[in-house]
Amino acid sequence: MLITHAQLATLGAAPCLIDDGALLIEADCIAAVGTTAELTARYPAAERWDAAGQLVLPAAICAHTHFYGAFARGMAIPGEPATNFPEILERLWWRLDKALTPEDVRYSALVCLVDAVRHGTTTLIDHHASPNAIDGSLDVIAEAAQQAGIRACLCYEVTDRDGLQRAQAGIAENIRFAKSNIQHPKIASSFGLHASLTLSDETLSDCLAAANDLGLGFHIHVAEDHADQEDSLRKSGKRVIHRLGDAGILGPRTIAAHCVHVSEGEIGRLAATGTWVTHQPRSNMNNAVGVAPVEAMLHAGVNVGLGNDGFSNQMFAEMKAAYLVHKLAQHDPRAMPGDLVIQLAYAHNARLAQAFWPDLRLGELSAGAAADLVLLDYQPVTPLTAGNLPWHLLFGLEASAITATVCAGQVLVRDRRLLTLDEEAITARSRELAALAWKRI
Ligand SMILES: [Zn+2]
Repeated sequence: MLITHAQLATLGAAPCLIDDGALLIEADCIAAVGTTAELTARYPAAERWDAAGQLVLPAAICAHTHFYGAFARGMAIPGEPATNFPEILERLWWRLDKALTPEDVRYSALVCLVDAVRHGTTTLIDHHASPNAIDGSLDVIAEAAQQAGIRACLCYEVTDRDGLQRAQAGIAENIRFAKSNIQHPKIASSFGLHASLTLSDETLSDCLAAANDLGLGFHIHVAEDHADQEDSLRKSGKRVIHRLGDAGILGPRTIAAHCVHVSEGEIGRLAATGTWVTHQPRSNMNNAVGVAPVEAMLHAGVNVGLGNDGFSNQMFAEMKAAYLVHKLAQHDPRAMPGDLVIQLAYAHNARLAQAFWPDLRLGELSAGAAADLVLLDYQPVTPLTAGNLPWHLLFGLEASAITATVCAGQVLVRDRRLLTLDEEAITARSRELAALAWKRI
């Protein structure tokens, strides 16, 4: 497939903007990038797709999400409004996740995947919880992801909050899934842990033994709120990064989501262990937990990516939030510059994806990279260059401009039409199931 007459924003190590550009897709990879004149001469027999001047960007990557959270939209939470983060967990999330049946898990994932595919996010790292439907839940999500045609890294969150039996069931689900699912190229696994505040030393050590056997890293919420630090100090006398580090949980294939409340010493430990931190500014603002010291972490050499924590899979919206919140929090318009936001969202997230798919090159349009890309109907009102692309992205581009999504060479959306998922049927069933789940809550 030869995409012609496109404006290509390549990103990658040598970002450039190619006017009247063309891009050859062979199987699941980009085989060549150049001008339309060059590539049509070189590949005269290739099937053509005329982009008619549309902007082409690499598809987005989400470093931390929760497909299981979709039914929370518009849900009335019983009782008084939560006043802090632990209450948000107890009153909303730990009620919702217990209400989920296997069919709910499937449809909750499918509605998130409709959103992801439509809005050009083709690689998602998910963190799942359904305490009354643990066994097999990751297979259900993997089937939905395969149906959608995107890439997903899945895990089940182990926690002691629902007793020993469910903690062990969570461990078993991570093990079972990781063993059963090594064959599918778009599906990967990690080992899920809820957060230090709901995990005992014994459970952490069981998880470490199991993950080491399988060669897996962990995916865990870390220092999202003060409560996680206070709990860790109470339990162990250590701050949470040190508690997890001493338990063997950190490392280059571990994701520590949030890290809003981390000390200089903890930042040093994250850097020294090569642990990934993911930043979710929309969620942090919504939960009023604080602003993660992202630039300090980057400065110290910590790997930081960008996730959405179950907010919409329109990653442009998350990028905008990241761009804005640090300026407000620091009273400094120089904080979190636009090019840094784009680096987190594309280059860093692409590097994080390699922790799960080592041979995969994402986040750039170049020969040999994965054919994961989007077409956008964008008419810039000022000159667009490779250098100022981040600010067009932050101030001009909306995910609604996406007209086509391609993942691993497979066209998932074309002319704004979803080709792999039936949005009408999925949302209709999701509304029915969500209403029933709300009744159970
Ligand atoms: Zn999360």
